[in-house]
This record gives sequence, C-alpha cells and structure tokens, in this order.
Amino acid sequence: MKTLRLKPGKERSLQRRHPWVFESAIARGGADSGETVRVESHDGAFLAWAAFSPESKIRARAWSFTETQRIDAAFLASLCARAVAARGLFDLQSDGVRLVHGEADGLPGLIVDRYGDTLVAQFLSAGVERWKGALADALLKATGLSKLYERSDASGREREGLKPVTGWLRGEGPTEIVIREHGWKLSLDIATGHKTGFYLDQRDSRQRFAELAQHRRFRRVLNCFCYTGGFTVAALAGLKAAGALEGAQLVSVDSSLPALERARGHLALNGFDAAGGQGIEAEFLDANVNTVLREFIEQGRTFDAIVLDPPKFAPTVAHAERASRAYKDINRLALKILEPGGVLLTFSCSGGISADLFHKIVASAGLDAGVDGYIAERLGAAPDHPMTIEFPEGEYLKGLVVVRKPA
Ligand code: SAH
Repeated sequence: MKTLRLKPGKERSLQRRHPWVFESAIARGGADSGETVRVESHDGAFLAWAAFSPESKIRARAWSFTETQRIDAAFLASLCARAVAARGLFDLQSDGVRLVHGEADGLPGLIVDRYGDTLVAQFLSAGVERWKGALADALLKATGLSKLYERSDASGREREGLKPVTGWLRGEGPTEIVIREHGWKLSLDIATGHKTGFYLDQRDSRQRFAELAQHRRFRRVLNCFCYTGGFTVAALAGLKAAGALEGAQLVSVDSSLPALERARGHLALNGFDAAGGQGIEAEFLDANVNTVLREFIEQGRTFDAIVLDPPKFAPTVAHAERASRAYKDINRLALKILEPGGVLLTFSCSGGISADLFHKIVASAGLDAGVDGYIAERLGAAPDHPMTIEFPEGEYLKGLVVVRKPA
C-alpha cells in the first residue's frame, strides 16, 4: 500500500473530516493517478484512505476516515446506493434529480444527475476516473436504470490531468429529454446542454419565483442569464395560476443562441403562446446582459421582477475581488430599472464568494444605485445538492430576494 506522509501540523483538516489534501501539506509519497493511498500524519498515524491526483493542487481526496475500511467496488457501490436512497427523503417535485453531489456524498469529483430514465455523470477527479466502470454499474444498480451518459467535459478535468470524455458509458438512448419540474415541462439535451444538460440546482428558486409571480401578478419580467428560460416558464406558470397572463411582458436574455431558442420553445411546450395569442409579450434577446441593462436604463424601461443568475464569476477565493466588482455592477444596473415595490432575485454560484460577502455586494449595489430595498428571503441550492458540515466549499449557490421599498 502506498502512503502519503503529511508535514507536521497538516493533519488537522483531515481530522475534521475535510476530504481534501493539498499538495503543500505533503512531506513525501505518491502513487499513480487515482490510486488509493494511506494518508498519515508526520508521525505515521492513520488519517484517511484517499485517491491520489498526481497533477492537481488538491493532491488527494479522501474516500474514508476509517482505517479498517477497504476501498473497493463494493464500498463505492454502497456510497452510490446511499446517495440515491437519500434523494428519496426529499419531496423534489421533479424527475430531474441530482443523485450524487461529489464530496457531500463521499464521492469527491463525481456528479450524477437523473433526467427521467437516463443518468448523466461527470467524473471530475482522478479517483472517480479510475473507478469509473464500477461506479457506472453501481449507479445503474442503485437506480434500476440502464442508460448512463458521460459528460466528463467540465473544466475541472484539466486540473486533474484528465482529457474530456463524452458519450454513452452504459446503454444508449435519445440525448434529447423532457423532464417535469413542478407542474411544467422542460427540455434539455444531455450531449450539448450546459453541465449535464440543465441547472437542477435552481429548481426551488424557480418554484419560489412562480409563487411570487402568482402573488404579485408581475406585469414586466426581466430574466437575465436565462439559459433555457426556466425562470421565464416559472413566471408564466405563476401568472397563469393567478389568471394574470393577459398583458404580461417577459424579456429573457442570454448570450447563448441555442439556449435562447430552447427557451422560446419552452413557452409552446408549456402551452404559452409566444406569438401573443394569450396577451403575453415574450422577447428573447441574444445579447450580453451588461449591455442590455445599460440600454434599458437609457430607454427608461423598468420591470417589476428581475432575475440575475450569472455564471460563476469567482471559481475560487483568489478571483473574489474581481468577481465582487462584476456582481456589484450587474446588481447596481438591475436595481436601477426595478420599479418601487418590485422584486429582484439575485444569485451567485461562485464558490469563492461567501453568502456574507454576497449580501454585502448586493447591499452596496443598492447604495450605489440609490435604491432602498429589503432583503426579504435567502435562497440556495435545492436539497438534492446538499452541503455537509465538514465541507463548507459545498455552499456554492446563494441567492437573495430583494424587494425595492415602495415609493
Ligand atoms: N437561470 C438559468 C441558469 C443560468 S446559467 C436556469 O434557471 O436554468 C448562466 C447563463 O448565463 C448561461 O446560459 C450563459 O450562456 C449565460 N451567460 C454568460 N455570460 C453572459 C453574458 N455576459 N450575457 C448574457 N448571458 C450570459
């Protein structure tokens, strides 16, 4: 068995069950990519079994903190089965579900989403790459399904020295899938969509937006960074439930044309008439959100609901400062065109920006915009994207519902 000997004082993080061993903590030792190593303290005490990543700054990721635990296919299968079983504890109201959420499920670097009867997996660390076959079999067994598509083309793979891989790993089927989320339908393509095809983590916030639309009968909605229009469909569903579709105007903005085309298609898929038949006016703008916000300010165009769900501006804390300015900028611009009494749903999915910092950024954007607001609610990733106590990095997605004080 190969070992990794840590430097004195570097054992604390593993003792607290944080699963990462950084390159800088290691005194000596090594192994092949993904191979299991025994991690020990400077005086040889057992700390963890971990998968070795020779090319990554995160040089090893823990599988287990129990010395007697064998790291084998049966053990990994038990982790998969537990992760799948845990999802049954939540009332997710969707057949698009995150089944495995990496570190939170004891499987560092493994992401598995279920879309209907198809699994889509990302193997993003050397450890899960090495055990790929066993994990794929275990996931199908735990779910009783037969199709698993691999989307190991996320940027994290490069840092592990792994090449991008995509395609069917088990079984075969259509890559175009329609899921049901809450009451509505959403289509995605697991081969070409972002991440594994869809942003499942925003499921509860989309539902919340639908409720707000129903209660407040939004007239003018602006969905920025809309991807395939999930929040737009949610708003329409809420307005329909309130009997308030007539006269509603919805603007959805994204810089990805295929995503926007799908967003437009989602209206028809859900029985909404984008051509104006129900009195709805729906615009889909293939544009940079920054530019659009500035144009709307110039035109004096305002909204009573705005969603800001940008991509990750700060993947790590090192990017936090520049990212903070970018977040502040879009929030400031959005608040300027928010009507008094209007609602802003604003998000950050950057691991490098804490919930606290995000709150401060949005508050300071309000100050600069000269807009008084209440932070009415805090939002986060849906419960199938859990956080664990040991791994605070798991809290990546945070959102705020800001209500502009009425005039
Ligand atoms: N709210 C969406 C997910 C948004 S993901 C949902 O619920 O599904 C972020 C989106 O921002 C992506 O679709 C990406 O294409 C888009 N994007 C990134 N930079 C952009 C920019 N500068 N202007 C407009 N869209 C941008």
